[in-house]
Amino acid sequence: MKHMFIPGPVDVDPDVLQAQTNPMIPHRSAEFDAFFQGTEAKLKQVFMTETRVFQLPCSGSGMQEAGIRNLAHKDVLSCVNGAFGHRWYQVAVSNGKQADRLDAAWGEAITPERLAGALSAKPYEVVTIVHNETSTGVENPIKDLAEVVREISPETLILIDAVSSLGGVKIETDVWGLDFVLTSSQKCLALPPGMAFAAVSERALEKAKSVENRGWYFDMTLMEKHRIKNSTAMTPSMSLIWALDVQLDKILAEGLENRFARHQAMAERVQSWALANGMDPLAKEDHRSPTVSTIQNLRKVDFSELSSHLLARGMCISNGYGELKNKTFRIAHMGETQMYHIDTLLEAFEAFLAKM
Ligand SMILES: *Cc1c(COP(=O)(O)O)cnc(C)c1O
Repeated sequence: MKHMFIPGPVDVDPDVLQAQTNPMIPHRSAEFDAFFQGTEAKLKQVFMTETRVFQLPCSGSGMQEAGIRNLAHKDVLSCVNGAFGHRWYQVAVSNGKQADRLDAAWGEAITPERLAGALSAKPYEVVTIVHNETSTGVENPIKDLAEVVREISPETLILIDAVSSLGGVKIETDVWGLDFVLTSSQKCLALPPGMAFAAVSERALEKAKSVENRGWYFDMTLMEKHRIKNSTAMTPSMSLIWALDVQLDKILAEGLENRFARHQAMAERVQSWALANGMDPLAKEDHRSPTVSTIQNLRKVDFSELSSHLLARGMCISNGYGELKNKTFRIAHMGETQMYHIDTLLEAFEAFLAKM
């Protein structure tokens, strides 16, 4: 077996990889427009929105930047409880916004109470929240967080990074009133890296029209002008779009609810195995991610030895992120990973522990 258990890029199914070899066609053509409209229609189902989904040739970080540049003149509240929340904060600051942080310890979740406190203290134009902190394996309770924002500060736009969860965890963009939900291609959607997608609400797009210095590449009003004609302002990443179409068909054929249940079952399997083997997940029980487990290295495993042992068997897991390196390691269970992959991985892991 060869399998990637790192939190992106994850394995891509052979038929999806194969679709990338389809020939190029003119991107200003009825044929391409029809195709592109098709992928947006399928993406809307996955994002659980009826409004719009932008499809761009960039990575998820680019979409973080798009959200910031378009949706805030100035005041941003950045929720930070891991590396990717921190990145979005840095994106805000480096784009000249006045960003305040709502910090929680790495491994803890952002709570509705603390968010309510921050929003009561100062009016913010946008709040940025990472749904699934890929560094810590914490899932932030975005449904509850969004409810608090709408209650205390209804004008504040809700920006969600769902890079490592969308497609594997239920995110009801419209029902929960989320204004901007972004993801990358290479994580939970199980595509090659190189594209990002974002659902954008009507009121968010309205706001964008009034924001200065949106730039060009990430200008949502320009994106919208082209989207309604089923195209992009720049040359689209055509090969990836061929692959996207095949993968979205597979996702919808599995069924979203089945897909969510599969991710949850794999998470429970990995996390209960870790607990049973004396290596507690970093996240507390209520906030453990369904797509990536960050496991504390309580048995003092030498990560490079573990990694070589698994690589020799065709499997790849991740070390901890940043300061969590060697203190934790990460097992992703997302995309097309199935329970039998997890069983094989944990068996090999156990064999390694037995030899220690
Ligand atoms: C990987 C990741 C990103 C960065 O995405 P890129 O596609 O690498 O730019 C942002 N947020 C989260 C939660 C991630 O897991």
